[in-house]
Amino acid sequence: MKDPMGSAPQEIERAAADWLGQFEKALSTADQPKLRSLFHADSHWRDVLAFTWQIETVSGGESVAKGLGDRVARTQPSRFAIDPQRTPPRRVIRAGVETIEAIFAFQTVDGRGSGVVRLTPDSKGVLKAWTLLTALEALHGHEEHVGSYRPRGEAHARDFRGPNWLDLRKQAARYTDRDPAVLVVGGGQAGLSIAARLNQLGIDTLIVDRMPRIGDNWRKRYHALTLHNQVQVNHLPYMPFPPTWPTYIPKDKLAGWFEAYVDSLELNFWTGTEFESGRYDERDGRWTVMLRGADGARREMHPRHVVLATGVSGIPNIPDIPSLPDFGGTVLHSSQYDDGDAWKGKSAIVVGTGNSGHDIAQDLHSSGVKVTLVQRSPTLIVNVEPSAQLPYALYDEGPSLEDCDLITVATPLALGKKTHALLTEQARQMDKALLDGLERIGFRLDFGEDGTGWQFKYLTRGGGYYFNVGCSDLLVEGAIRLLQFADIDRFVKDGARLRSGKLLAADLVVLATGYKGQEHLVSKLFGAEAAERVGPIWGFGEGQELRNMFVRTPQPGLWFIAGSLAQCRIYSKYLALQIKASELGMLDDRSRPQSRQSAPSAVALATAQGPA
Ligand SMILES: Cc1cc2nc3c(=O)[nH]c(=O)nc-3n(C[C@H](O)[C@H](O)[C@H](O)COP(=O)(O)OP(=O)(O)OC[C@H]3O[C@@H](n4cnc5c(N)ncnc54)[C@H](O)[C@@H]3O)c2cc1C
Repeated sequence: MKDPMGSAPQEIERAAADWLGQFEKALSTADQPKLRSLFHADSHWRDVLAFTWQIETVSGGESVAKGLGDRVARTQPSRFAIDPQRTPPRRVIRAGVETIEAIFAFQTVDGRGSGVVRLTPDSKGVLKAWTLLTALEALHGHEEHVGSYRPRGEAHARDFRGPNWLDLRKQAARYTDRDPAVLVVGGGQAGLSIAARLNQLGIDTLIVDRMPRIGDNWRKRYHALTLHNQVQVNHLPYMPFPPTWPTYIPKDKLAGWFEAYVDSLELNFWTGTEFESGRYDERDGRWTVMLRGADGARREMHPRHVVLATGVSGIPNIPDIPSLPDFGGTVLHSSQYDDGDAWKGKSAIVVGTGNSGHDIAQDLHSSGVKVTLVQRSPTLIVNVEPSAQLPYALYDEGPSLEDCDLITVATPLALGKKTHALLTEQARQMDKALLDGLERIGFRLDFGEDGTGWQFKYLTRGGGYYFNVGCSDLLVEGAIRLLQFADIDRFVKDGARLRSGKLLAADLVVLATGYKGQEHLVSKLFGAEAAERVGPIWGFGEGQELRNMFVRTPQPGLWFIAGSLAQCRIYSKYLALQIKASELGMLDDRSRPQSRQSAPSAVALATAQGPA
């Protein structure tokens, strides 16, 4: 029987173009049965703004066809075609299934879109869609100021004394005569990405960060830190890292790049500035926010939008350990931990076996401290290389960064889970020797819900795993001691009294116990009512998308961005498009998401280390 997916590139392209042609015809004639026949029963449609102005996944052929059909009248989708500028349709394996993956372009009433369809044959050999992505790329008449849309600049100044570029930049960043349209709180990768995107859409944006210097969010981390992901996955928007850069970027190099990025992309950035509070005025459609400078001076501003790009490191999670006040030494949360040198020759107990706990234990050990790492709950361990890099194989397949990002967005939750379960099993085999060694010393391992691995631990709770850069080996060797939390009876003046009766002497206890969820920060900055209205942030809950991330929230004017460099690069684009559309009055407030769950989640998050 002839292979319905074809083998020659032209056959594959023809098959994809044929499906698209039928799809467009079914949409334009509102032919619901035909539309339904183009999708497998077990199919998924992810829409990123193009049809719904939401980020939304619909599953099941019937629901997909209905969802699309219901939106045709408003969106008027047209001009579906394989995009000749992008990676041509090809046969690939996704989530263990061979499929034709085709990138296409289309138009709606609002703008230009890109999509990805994955086709597989049904039992009769007819190619049907298994997954479909429709994503808005640009608004009609409001292209980003890049490439042929770049700013014109001035060829020359007739008045040799007029303000030059630097004078104008300094003046713009002072905000003496105006307020920004968007205030971004936090100048890490999330804040920089969204500010850069908004700039390119012509939206006046100011970033504030409490740290004294741009890049300090990386600079102030432990001395030997290099990034966990390879350089080709970590680029920021518009300005990729130079090809000369090392595969694993050292933290101070990245911190320096952040400074260069802000300068080159002309981002307005106030360092040493704390965002203290915000109150939204529904009638005026703007915020009253209070900022506090390093000198204590306060400044009130009235932006229309506030984007929280504060990471997860807002409020440390301090577990309730009743006997801890009896300990006579120093107790630090991991966020207060700086450097091991001061503890040379002493003894330390590190509580928590996520990335921070392991990294701090290793840092103390390398500074000549006698360290015991205390495990509270089962933890996923994966070697940073090669196992932790498996999810990024796409970025080595050959397509451009832009195409890899679109293909990543085209992964609905169900596919993502299946993919990561397969990768987790593969990593488990690759890391077998290490994992066996850890089990031998009593380390309790975990592989995530349904074996979906670290990626889903990151997306659901922001932690619960460790990328092994050496600490696991030190534990197996016994150079760092492992203790289960349940083996501690209580803390006493000189350390921890174990259930065996022995004393574990310590001068320092580090609580690497993560951070409270962003709901708590919202409550602190905007009040309990706003937090209740917004509901849980991050994680999936019952749905198929991260809650309140990168989309309109139930609180007008409040947006969230966070995550890995890759997530920030990818989703900043869609977040910026929504803010632009909101500024243009294109977003219908009736379609704003309603608060789904009211009570702020009490779940504490560990530091989010992992990228998308
Ligand atoms: C060892 C290690 C390796 C890693 N490797 C990678 C990697 O390879 N790739 C990757 O993508 N991720 C990696 N990560 C994860 C990465 O650190 C985080 O994902 C990243 O820092 C999150 O960026 P962010 O911009 O969301 O938040 P942050 O970096 O936490 O920045 C938030 C900023 O908000 C500021 N802020 C908070 N509250 C306020 C306020 N009220 N007012 C003013 N400012 C405020 C803070 O000062 C801070 O600068 C790694 C982490 C570690 C520890």
